[in-house]
Amino acid sequence: MSDDNPTVKSAGPTAPAGPKDGAKAAEPRHIVLSSHPRKGPRAAPEIHWGAPTAKERGPVIGSQANPQQRNVIGVHSGAYGVYRALAIAAGKLSPVHRPDLTDTHPPVDIPPQPQWSNPDSIVSMDPWGHLVAAEFREEIKSGLDIRPTIAITRARIQFPELVAEMHKGRIKPDGKILMENGDASVVKAAIEPVWYLPGIAKRLNVSETQLRRSLYEHTGSMFSDLVTRTDRKEFLPPIGGITLYIFGSVENLVSGQNEIACRVHDECNGSDVFGSDICTCRPYLVHGIEECILSAQRGGSGLIVYNRKEGRALGEVVKFLVYNARKRNPAGDTAAAYFEKTECVAGVQDVRFQDLMPDVFNWLGIRRIDRWISMSNMKFDAMAAHGIEIVKRVPIPDDMIPKDASVEMDAKKAAGYYTDGTTSAASGKLEDTKGRSLDGY
Ligand SMILES: [Zn+2]
Repeated sequence: MSDDNPTVKSAGPTAPAGPKDGAKAAEPRHIVLSSHPRKGPRAAPEIHWGAPTAKERGPVIGSQANPQQRNVIGVHSGAYGVYRALAIAAGKLSPVHRPDLTDTHPPVDIPPQPQWSNPDSIVSMDPWGHLVAAEFREEIKSGLDIRPTIAITRARIQFPELVAEMHKGRIKPDGKILMENGDASVVKAAIEPVWYLPGIAKRLNVSETQLRRSLYEHTGSMFSDLVTRTDRKEFLPPIGGITLYIFGSVENLVSGQNEIACRVHDECNGSDVFGSDICTCRPYLVHGIEECILSAQRGGSGLIVYNRKEGRALGEVVKFLVYNARKRNPAGDTAAAYFEKTECVAGVQDVRFQDLMPDVFNWLGIRRIDRWISMSNMKFDAMAAHGIEIVKRVPIPDDMIPKDASVEMDAKKAAGYYTDGTTSAASGKLEDTKGRSLDGY
């Protein structure tokens, strides 16, 4: 780095100390570049992805509190890292604040599984992410800012649809898994993405160099370390994470002794939260939860995997543009044009990359799902590629499909999604399944 520019220095041995605590620290004198690895005894701890113990694997350090300790590309908290940067810029958060992890440990055990020490089994999350406060106690005490990338807690949840099902007698309260008032008792886990770049490249069947270059260039050069720091193999991408909702026994989920029901659900805010009727997302989620409760009540477990992959990971703006293009189609919003309209706007039908989805099952040690609440072949094939057995696929009952969503449902069936072979249109023709037009709201 040239000395002509007094505001930028490399993070070599002569780099200035980090900014001092307090709001004024939001304006450090120098920008500390991380483009060259530091050498010597004060170097950041190494990560050996797939090593059999946490100590041998090494901690993931994405904190900026002490840049010399960092051993990954990117920062913690996924997309929320940007808000943290805003808070520091606004002087509301000290850049050197370190979390107090007292009493934050999980209330249930997710113990190490053989898959944790196979670098091919888990490439998109840190399997030790919920255990760092215990596994790296001494390192944290000695001053390393090691943060959990997984948090596990307990909750009760309630869906009005499930209360209605209870009143109809389709599900019954038991006072433990499902309460009289319709509350369901769950264990929930939040998981932040931690990408092992060589493993991600292997899953996608591209070279690591290609992967790094594309991530660098097509995020507007957001992370230059992707191309300059090939010694750093782990990336904390600025994307949404995963939430697990576990019904019934967590031990059974891990041991697989009794039955397991599961739905892998990709976020659809419009339907999941607001009940928009253009798709089957929320009804499918409710159906999945119902099956999870039933499995748990039979002595097994239920698992909802909720992935923040809005609009097939294309985002909500693209999704709403596609809705309009579908609704303004001269032939009407037909099942025949469903996928085509997405491709017209986005250039691709789907970027969820289900190849990464099985990681969470490998983390839990799951080898078999008895009831798989999904009709997606992409999800089914991804599980098969990891040798995870799916015993029975359970499609959504027809009476749970909203009227406008028959377009999506029939298009998916025609595209080869798992089905019982029926379509909504009386004629059986795809062109005859139509949703309402933009004037029909
Ligand atoms: Zn949806």
